[in-house]
Amino acid sequence: TRKIAVSGTASGIGKALAGLLRAQGDEVIGIDLKDADVCADLSTPEGRALAVESVLGMCGGVLDGVVACAGVSTFTTLTVRVNYFGVTALLEGLRPALAAAPAPRAAVIGSISGTKPAVPEVVRACLDGLEEEAVESGERAVERGDGRKLYPSSKSALAQWLRRVCVTPEWAGCGIPLNAVAPGVVLTPMSDPLFADEEMRKAMDAAVPMPLNGYAEPEVVAEALRWLVSPANSHMTGQVVYVDGGAEATLRGPDV
Ligand code: NAD
Repeated sequence: TRKIAVSGTASGIGKALAGLLRAQGDEVIGIDLKDADVCADLSTPEGRALAVESVLGMCGGVLDGVVACAGVSTFTTLTVRVNYFGVTALLEGLRPALAAAPAPRAAVIGSISGTKPAVPEVVRACLDGLEEEAVESGERAVERGDGRKLYPSSKSALAQWLRRVCVTPEWAGCGIPLNAVAPGVVLTPMSDPLFADEEMRKAMDAAVPMPLNGYAEPEVVAEALRWLVSPANSHMTGQVVYVDGGAEATLRGPDV
């Protein structure tokens, strides 16, 4: 049996992925604020350390896969703490256990929002590993009314982090593919508020056009993650795979 640690298993995409993995016989170690095998708050350094320590204890120091699904989409600096630092700390903390497995795999969740306008100082501080500086720059962005740019900043920084580390001796050199799935709009509790009124929904449809099959169910995104962390994926790394009904292709156009 493969042992796979998944964050965000109490809801949405993480929950769907945990279901798919368990159904194919994998052992899932779920991490979330509550209703999980490991209950920990990934927004704080203490919570991340607790999560890493608990997972390492449960897997005996050898882990076949890690998928970081936990995330938030508020217009606050919590997005930076959870979506960037919570994800990268979890992956870095569990990396040695991945390196000890025969066919280790890792994946994270980006977003089509990672292609939207970001706060450059926040992205830079994230990539420099300076959490408090990133949060301070984020607080200033909130004060000037740019809070909605923090989620895109967290996801853009995450995609750039992935591109940087995936080819290093610590990841590629240890045989660990590391990729992201970037969804458009997925029907989970996170996106519920977007459907609160007709105006919001129209704004969202303009921002994230999904000509192919519309909004996605969480299982669709989970299927892509499942393949990325399967033994079949021996050579794909550093990719941000858009599972977004054509949103990225519509917005960025034909130039690749
Ligand atoms: P969701 O709200 O249904 O699930 C997120 C899970 O993360 C929850 O169970 C929550 O408790 C957990 N979580 C949040 N903060 C945490 C913390 N500090 N510590 C531990 N766990 C925490 O959302 P979802 O739609 O399943 O989102 C999953 C991922 O997909 C997120 O990274 C999100 O940014 C991304 N995403 C979602 C959409 C969408 O439309 N739903 C679109 C693009 C990307």
